[in-house]
Amino acid sequence: MILVMGGAGYIGSHTVKHLLDNGYQVVVADNLIYGHRAAVDARAAFIHADLLDPYSLDQLFNKFEISAVIHFAAFAYVGESVQEPQKYYFNNVQGTLNLLRAMLSHGVKDIVFSSTCATYGEPVYTPIDEKHPQNPINPYGRTKLMIEQIFADYERAYGLRHISLRYFNAAGASADGSIGESHNPETHLIPLVLKAIKGECKAISIFGTDYDTPDGTCVRDYIHVEDLALAHRLAVEKLKDYSGCINLGTGIGSSVKEIIVAAEQVSGKKCPVEYGPRRAGDPAKLFADNQKAKTILGWNPQYTHIQDILRTAWNWEVNKRY
Ligand code: UDP
Repeated sequence: MILVMGGAGYIGSHTVKHLLDNGYQVVVADNLIYGHRAAVDARAAFIHADLLDPYSLDQLFNKFEISAVIHFAAFAYVGESVQEPQKYYFNNVQGTLNLLRAMLSHGVKDIVFSSTCATYGEPVYTPIDEKHPQNPINPYGRTKLMIEQIFADYERAYGLRHISLRYFNAAGASADGSIGESHNPETHLIPLVLKAIKGECKAISIFGTDYDTPDGTCVRDYIHVEDLALAHRLAVEKLKDYSGCINLGTGIGSSVKEIIVAAEQVSGKKCPVEYGPRRAGDPAKLFADNQKAKTILGWNPQYTHIQDILRTAWNWEVNKRY
């Protein structure tokens, strides 16, 4: 059985569905602070557990026959991590240490982890491969880098098997419309653009138009959440002979303006726009070199056109259940 920590969150819930669709048995543990109970597939077992409560973790490992863990449970608001680093270091780093202790004391040595391209910090070159220097510029990115480093030490000392998947910008929703993205507060570009189109907010504010990019707005690599889910299953299957870090992105960059145009095409409606200043800490361009994921995991992203990603996001945005 696979334990999915944080399986009620955005990427976690899509991974749970994908695992179940591919014949795996799954137990989801989540504290439901940011996750949604309704996002958890009815075929999965569900346990209310918190990484900061070692007792609840022990109970989990006592109750279920767990062979591997996929670990999504983390706080992930960059701005908040600057204001409240303590919350991030405790929840993300201490929480992962608690999880590792529970795993090792129950003989579980396989973990796939949600890492992030935020561990790279300001890019020195693009596309970004896994050898790119890691100099995160906020506490959120630092928590993820620390955990990657902890895994390497635990591998040497305790034989931990680990794959850290460094996501670029997760986007979209399940093709069948059953689950999707729902953050509160919402800070991400694509859902905010779709909400502006729906009239739920006045306009989308474009954070900076004077970047050194073709249209002056920031370029990011938007990777479909179902492609991420697939990569997690492939990573679990690969743990027996590989440990390390792997980028997950399409390798294609889209600018903020391109996202807005694609959202207008997909929805058939105009998006109200306003122009704001740059957001602190936003690099001009981030996109992945994804060769390692292709070679090591045999992974190939299926969604390589931004319109196709936005179509699933729009379908979810107009029919969302939670
Ligand atoms: N962005 C924007 N307006 C918004 C939110 C985001 O212009 O209201 C831009 C942001 O500057 C970045 C891109 O959209 O270049 C993606 O931001 P998001 O917060 O979705 O993801 P991040 O790249 O920060 O992980």
